[in-house]
Amino acid sequence: AQREAKAKAHQPAVTRDGQQINVFANVGSINDVQVAIASGAEGVGLLRTEFLYLGRTIAPTEDEQFAVYQAIAQVLNHRPLIIRTLDVGGDKPLPYLNIGFTEANPFLGWRGIRFCLDHPEFFKTQLRAILRASAEHNLKIMLPMIATVMEVRAAKIILGEVQDELRQAEIIFDENLQVGIMVEVPSAVAIADQLAAEVDFFSIGTNDLTQYVMAGDRTNLRVATLVDALHPAVLRMIRQTVQAAHTAGIWVGLCGELAAHPLAAPILLGLGLDELSVNPQSIPILKQAIARLSVTEAEAIATLALQQDSANHVRALLQQSTVP
Ligand code: PEP
Ligand code: MG
Repeated sequence: AQREAKAKAHQPAVTRDGQQINVFANVGSINDVQVAIASGAEGVGLLRTEFLYLGRTIAPTEDEQFAVYQAIAQVLNHRPLIIRTLDVGGDKPLPYLNIGFTEANPFLGWRGIRFCLDHPEFFKTQLRAILRASAEHNLKIMLPMIATVMEVRAAKIILGEVQDELRQAEIIFDENLQVGIMVEVPSAVAIADQLAAEVDFFSIGTNDLTQYVMAGDRTNLRVATLVDALHPAVLRMIRQTVQAAHTAGIWVGLCGELAAHPLAAPILLGLGLDELSVNPQSIPILKQAIARLSVTEAEAIATLALQQDSANHVRALLQQSTVP
């Protein structure tokens, strides 16, 4: 089955009733991008830019970042590249920025967009590098850990300032660059309709969304059973987010590990996600799972799943309905 999946991995993922789902890759290095293309990725749905900042003593310069974004985009050869702005803090402390060490609850602390908005000059360096790389490539920007509408507006103001500066310096960039957000904080789900009016797309981050919805640290093995993305509480939040996005007319993807779960495809398809972004190794099997489904079946399974009273019951339901 693995070999069969690999052989078809370079074709688009289309359901039996003709619905196409974009299958993208989550990557965290140039090497990952090469593996992603070889595995059949149609683009990068999440470039975790932390790798540029971790394991060193000073922040990467604008030119250094520009060179890396440019190199990644070149490997992708016109396929879309969604660059997530820096998401340090939480379980990724950074000595030279002095974050993530002194907090009692780093996952509830100064992380991602919160840190960047408090350091606009630092944030601008990354935005400038991304914008410059957008001149000749198919790039999109994605903001992590958004909890409020004000954070999106503040980030867009800073982005607008960088764009003005570049125009003044006659440096070209993509004037139509799409800006999206990660939906991974429960408040963002609750106000998804308001957030959808501010951005071009959503990508649901079920790794963080699950830990915040279930109130269980994603790195703490003692609560690992509780922190289960198949719990109906999480699935209902995904449904609410997709509905808000589609009502507003924007597309919505999912880039948490749930998308690579061997049983989750019918639920995610049935809930109406437009794009799934997974680790490169999972692409062939995910595409195969999509090809075996019809949207009508998937919708019926998703409806049933959301009515279950535990993650285990969801799992049992999915096991029954999966074609071996
Ligand atoms: C997520 O939270 O689901 C996600 C994709 O981002 P990360 O795992 O990098 O926090
Ligand atoms: Mg996250």
